[in-house]
Amino acid sequence: MTSSSPDQDGASSVASRLEAVRGRIARACRAAGRAPDSVVLTAVTKTQPPGAIDAIRAAGQRVFGENRVQEAQGRWTDRLAAPPRPELRLIGPLQTNKAADAVALFDVIETLDRPRLAHALAAAAGRAGRSPRVLVQVNTGAEPQKAGALPEETDTLIAHARALGLTVEGLMCIPPADEAPGIHFALLRRIARRNGLDVLSMGMSGDYETAIRFGATHVRIGSALFGERNTPQTPSMD
Ligand SMILES: *Cc1c(COP(=O)(O)O)cnc(C)c1O
Repeated sequence: MTSSSPDQDGASSVASRLEAVRGRIARACRAAGRAPDSVVLTAVTKTQPPGAIDAIRAAGQRVFGENRVQEAQGRWTDRLAAPPRPELRLIGPLQTNKAADAVALFDVIETLDRPRLAHALAAAAGRAGRSPRVLVQVNTGAEPQKAGALPEETDTLIAHARALGLTVEGLMCIPPADEAPGIHFALLRRIARRNGLDVLSMGMSGDYETAIRFGATHVRIGSALFGERNTPQTPSMD
């Protein structure tokens, strides 16, 4: 077993994929008449081994998304102590009994989708003296199996969360896998505008350029940076 080449190959391919994705984001911004720095790239590190995370941090990436609280704790608690401090964003469904853990770890929670969770987050933030910004996740396709507030419930949930003292920054969606995403991105933007919200977290590896055309401010990208996840949801090695 050679000592260094596999790791170095892995690190350089992550770095070169990061550069390629950044280039495509910049081109999509220019094509849409937007400033290239108007879109934040969230690197989705769920299921990735520690080496991949360290490699992309070394390549300059600072904003990260995780979809499970416990997995994120294992992966990030030590890494948060070492500067530069990354920004951590929760992009997966959150149970109310994990609200306190999520408030302690994440800078942004993108998956507020029901009043009970708004209450749990506000209470946990009060106890912790730390209040992550939140996005409301909208189930734009009204898919029964998918998390997210229904479009017609969203205005009320935003008002409710604001009344509880939560800082609602914007909206997030995951369009149905089998539909053209554009109408879902347009719907999310419409709901955001009428609620005075600026942040739109939409677009993944397969559709982020489309999302940028529809006004995404944050794109959440995993496989285009790290390669395909061959064992989705399996805990990483740490
Ligand atoms: C996994 C995940 C992503 C990244 O998906 P890719 O297709 O690998 O880019 C984005 N958003 C959410 C909510 C996810 O769970």
